[in-house]
Amino acid sequence: MRFSGFRILKEGLTGNKGWAGHWRDAAPKSEYDVVIIGGGGHGLATAYYLAKNHGITNVAVLEKGYLGGGNVGRNTTIVRANYFLPGNSEFYSHSLKLWEGMEEDLNYNVMHSQRGQIVLFHSDGQRDAMVRRGNAMVNQGDDAELLDREGVRRHLPYLDFDNARFPIYGGILQRRAGTARHDAVAWGYARGASDRGVDLIQNCEVTGIDIEGGVVKGVQTSRGSIRAKKVAIIVAGRSSQVAAMAGMRLPIESHVLQAFVTEGLKPVINHVVSFGMGHFYISQSDKGGLVFGGDLDMYASYAARGNLPIVEHVMEAGMTLMPMIGKARVLRSWGGIMDMSPDGSPIIDKTPTTGLYLNCGWCYGGFKAVPGSGYSTAHLVATDTPHEPAARFRLDRFRTGRGLMDEEGTGSQHNLH
Ligand SMILES: Cc1cc2nc3c(=O)[nH]c(=O)nc-3n(C[C@H](O)[C@H](O)[C@H](O)COP(=O)(O)OP(=O)(O)OC[C@H]3O[C@@H](n4cnc5c(N)ncnc54)[C@H](O)[C@@H]3O)c2cc1C
Repeated sequence: MRFSGFRILKEGLTGNKGWAGHWRDAAPKSEYDVVIIGGGGHGLATAYYLAKNHGITNVAVLEKGYLGGGNVGRNTTIVRANYFLPGNSEFYSHSLKLWEGMEEDLNYNVMHSQRGQIVLFHSDGQRDAMVRRGNAMVNQGDDAELLDREGVRRHLPYLDFDNARFPIYGGILQRRAGTARHDAVAWGYARGASDRGVDLIQNCEVTGIDIEGGVVKGVQTSRGSIRAKKVAIIVAGRSSQVAAMAGMRLPIESHVLQAFVTEGLKPVINHVVSFGMGHFYISQSDKGGLVFGGDLDMYASYAARGNLPIVEHVMEAGMTLMPMIGKARVLRSWGGIMDMSPDGSPIIDKTPTTGLYLNCGWCYGGFKAVPGSGYSTAHLVATDTPHEPAARFRLDRFRTGRGLMDEEGTGSQHNLH
């Protein structure tokens, strides 16, 4: 089934009776070439690129709940490529290029909107750091523009520029950054993988990983055992729990991150605005809701909900930056589970078990990483060699200390990034 403007018009005029399901809801077979644990954005994208780029289609994605029901459907949908350090910089740059071709590639409307992101700064020292980051982004081939105070005011006239604690000095604008419809990204990759023969198996929880003589043999699931030549663990906030089934202790802590959405309003915020000093960021969805969030709840947890101190902190920060949002009514808040790595950068690597691969540690940045991560993980699983843009995402950097990518300069310590 192909989507097109003509098809939508025709279906609209004939009662929308001709749409088929977007993917097959498969039952598990006894054996696959590749089993992917986790039907989130990264697992589905990996399955898609395994089939599309490498012709490997005897693949199952095992999801304990429903496809896209994890963090891929809980995030605040920001897509950008403004990372500073070698390793992250080229990876996110590659991922953003994949975003720019995603809708044509998947024949799926993911509502990717390159509305631009402005990251604010509030002191001379912060300006220097931002200029350095912007230069690194430009050197990587991405876009970055330095805005002075009046430049920011032209784009965001509703901000409080003279706040006594955080006066706005300027910002870095990345025009190619923006947002996308998160569920549609999961559905688009699911559909593309399913069309190429991948089995997408929902309500199938992996409860054990079978290993013999250091080689992976398959998985135990709530729907029986499944043999597999290769297994990829791609479960985001549940990474430590699933990796423990293979005897691994990961350098990952799972933390709650909350987000909020207001009632629908007329268009008022045209960009993604990031107020790092206040731990606050905001955009406006196509439905009109103001979508915003802050920092972690700062305690390890597997609960997909947070607590009131962070709610208060986020609301205060929002009011500090743009007092006008005090008039908007918050409709909902929710939490997701973040797989925080000690240096704030991800892991895409083989494990000590032959045939067992790991993808995790996405911290705050895993939605924008979905296409790049799927592309690179598929390459690793198919060829047993790292894909160049993700080659530095090695697991052993946390054991040896070599190659740490301390993106935010907070040290490779949990809870500080
Ligand atoms: C509030 C919030 C805001 C965010 N905002 C942004 C943002 O603006 N931009 C950005 O880039 N990133 C953002 N993120 C981060 C991003 O959402 C995550 O990094 C990313 O979604 C994680 O990858 P995923 O989509 O594969 O995870 P998930 O969707 O969580 O997929 C993992 C899947 O594995 C399944 N699973 C777990 N255990 C098992 C098991 N034993 N057996 C079978 N299946 C299992 C889960 O059910 C889940 O569906 C945000 C996150 C949160 C919580």
